Amino acid sequence: MSNKTLAILKPDCVEKNLIGEVILKITGAGFKIKALKMVRLSEASSGGFYEVHKERPFYKNLVEYMTSGACVPIALEKENAVADFRKLIGATDPSKADEGTIRKLFADSIERNIVHGSDSDENAAKEIAHFFSRKELLDNFSE
Ligand code: ATP
Ligand code: MG
Repeated sequence: MSNKTLAILKPDCVEKNLIGEVILKITGAGFKIKALKMVRLSEASSGGFYEVHKERPFYKNLVEYMTSGACVPIALEKENAVADFRKLIGATDPSKADEGTIRKLFADSIERNIVHGSDSDENAAKEIAHFFSRKELLDNFSE
């Protein structure tokens, strides 16, 4: 069990001015922010990030949506981070998400679903490295 996960506040979250509210839910659930930035993803970066879905029918729209505006990737730390964060954000489709989850509260559709969360420890490590250098992660600030 690892203690790190990657969140991305997606372009609909930024566009709806919900960055603050969503971060409050995340820190209120006990996650510690280890790194955070605001970025506009290129098509290559977005396509690479969601490469596992390359063959899926929604891939092209997903890449378009993720490049449509700024995103906020956040490296998070907590015991059991991956599973606990997936629980906090809720099901991919907000209409199927549990009450009180971030997607249930704020998301409009299965595509525009406000937030990303890593789905395994292995992917969490890869995804954190996709956005942050070692120096940008809080543990290394004193180096
Ligand atoms: P994420 O990886 O962003 O945390 P997830 O793990 O809940 O989401 P995935 O199956 O990995 O869901 O899908 C990645 C993203 O692709 C979803 O969050 C959503 O934005 C989009 N997506 C997934 N399924 C569909 C679908 N059926 N139609 C449209 N978009 C979809
Ligand atoms: Mg996923």
